Amino acid sequence: MPDKLDSLAKKIKVCTLCDLHKTRTNAVPGSGSCASGIMFVGEGPGKNEDEQGVPFVGMAGKFLDELLRGIGVQRSEVFITNIVKCRPPGNRDPVPEEIETCLPYLREQVLLLKPGAIVTLGRIALMRLVDPALSISLAHGRVFKKGRINFFASYHPAAALYNKKLESVMREDFAALSRFLKKTGRS
Ligand code: URA
Repeated sequence: MPDKLDSLAKKIKVCTLCDLHKTRTNAVPGSGSCASGIMFVGEGPGKNEDEQGVPFVGMAGKFLDELLRGIGVQRSEVFITNIVKCRPPGNRDPVPEEIETCLPYLREQVLLLKPGAIVTLGRIALMRLVDPALSISLAHGRVFKKGRINFFASYHPAAALYNKKLESVMREDFAALSRFLKKTGRS
């Protein structure tokens, strides 16, 4: 399975299916494992991620690491990826065409990794993966079952960098996520 994940990552690294490849430095397929049962899906790589080819390595990533430590989970035990694998210029929101073109890669990652929960980080992942009618302020901290997949909604860690009140809200969300995974025997 890691072999299949690696060959998928190689394919993503040379993908030219949408215009985002023209402005990227590196595509960012994702990193880690699903040893803890958790897969995180953010929005799209930022400047640091584009430079390094690794997801969530900037300030938002540092906060994500802290949230993981808070529930006793290491970064290597979770798989972290994004809705789009290449940086939208200037960190704009990815447009629907870019999202739809990139989604088959995420679907393949989910099929290979079989996560116990997919944590949507922020509005874009929540709306595209769970339900476009949901609002993040009502959905965060909750589990949404779709088919065989459990989605768990939380804020984007970057949001907590601007709104300090969200730090404790996200800590509580992660504690709820940890309880959910223990209950389902996936951690
Ligand atoms: N924001 C995201 O949504 N993803 C990253 O990888 C980094 C920042």
